[in-house]
Amino acid sequence: MTLTDSISVQKTNQSRISETDFNNLEFGKYISDHMLLSDWSEGKWSEPVIVPFGELKMTPAILALHYGQAIFEGMKAFKMSDGSINIFRPHKHHDRMVKSLDRMCMPTISFDMFIQSLHTLIEVDKNWVPTSEGSSLYIRPLVFASESRLGVKVADQYKFVVLTSPVGPYYNKPFRLKVEDHYTRTAEGGTGFAKCAGNYGGAFYPTQVARKEGFDQVLWTDHKEHKYIDEVGMMNVMFVLHGKLITPKLSTAILDGITRDSILTLAREAGMAVEERRISIDELEDGYKNKTLTEAFGAGTAAVVAPIAVINIHGTDYQLPKVESNSIQQKMKNKLLDVRTGQEPDTHGWNYIVKI
Ligand SMILES: *Cc1c(COP(=O)(O)O)cnc(C)c1O
Repeated sequence: MTLTDSISVQKTNQSRISETDFNNLEFGKYISDHMLLSDWSEGKWSEPVIVPFGELKMTPAILALHYGQAIFEGMKAFKMSDGSINIFRPHKHHDRMVKSLDRMCMPTISFDMFIQSLHTLIEVDKNWVPTSEGSSLYIRPLVFASESRLGVKVADQYKFVVLTSPVGPYYNKPFRLKVEDHYTRTAEGGTGFAKCAGNYGGAFYPTQVARKEGFDQVLWTDHKEHKYIDEVGMMNVMFVLHGKLITPKLSTAILDGITRDSILTLAREAGMAVEERRISIDELEDGYKNKTLTEAFGAGTAAVVAPIAVINIHGTDYQLPKVESNSIQQKMKNKLLDVRTGQEPDTHGWNYIVKI
């Protein structure tokens, strides 16, 4: 059985690719021609099907809308220098999706079904994978409770959907952060480690408050004392302090980012001192004052790395040094891109190659 044999494909006769401006790919604006769908009912997933991207028919009583059983993943596929397409770290994304599903009492999805779905969908929409440097095909697997019913309960019916979207290099100007010392994204024992929809809805309000005060994002702190760093916006956060790469240790309140893991791995390999541990606001403030805090950046699939210009701690702006081209974050970003596009050997088995 070849991969494509098992998934039925209904191709669109109205491709939108010619209307897509590949030189100006705003993140998430364009969705590729096709989507993958599978339904869970009576205890099993149906054979996935690929159909033209479009509307789904459902009632306003679906349980996901009311009680929030909805999780997603965010990953990327890259055009390799030899023309093949590389899905980056699907095993690790799948592992995390399974954890998210489990935390939200949703049915699991096997790695086989997951990878066949992605592989076939990307084969069908291979022309949507952008080729310019730093661009990629963003992949959005999504699972939600589709059972139509009003009572609060764990749903018996779900939908698995995969969408893809061509995205350009993510350029954002170094951002201004506010250390959040009032609101909380999540708490230990909560759902912070899961990529579930509610985490994002709940983070909007504190972020909007910070925006009104002139910041771009918030630096989330622990829910008990607001003293230790968790994450930044929807990314993991890393600092270069005393020449070491440091990042908060994973907990149930922190999302186990694949970019985070990839950068830590590459940094260790390059001989850099790496620490995963608690980082207090005070330590950052001291590091700023004695000039040992030289870099701060977000790490996530969308941006890869996102430089931080300002950290506001209890009302005081601390301005970080300008990011130079030989900075750790820039080096890590380039190294990661080189592995993903085949410029550097993939020594960890991170690349899943779709032969076209
Ligand atoms: C997705 C996400 C990240 C980054 O994870 P990656 O796997 O690197 O994309 C970090 N924090 C939050 C809250 C996220 O949702």
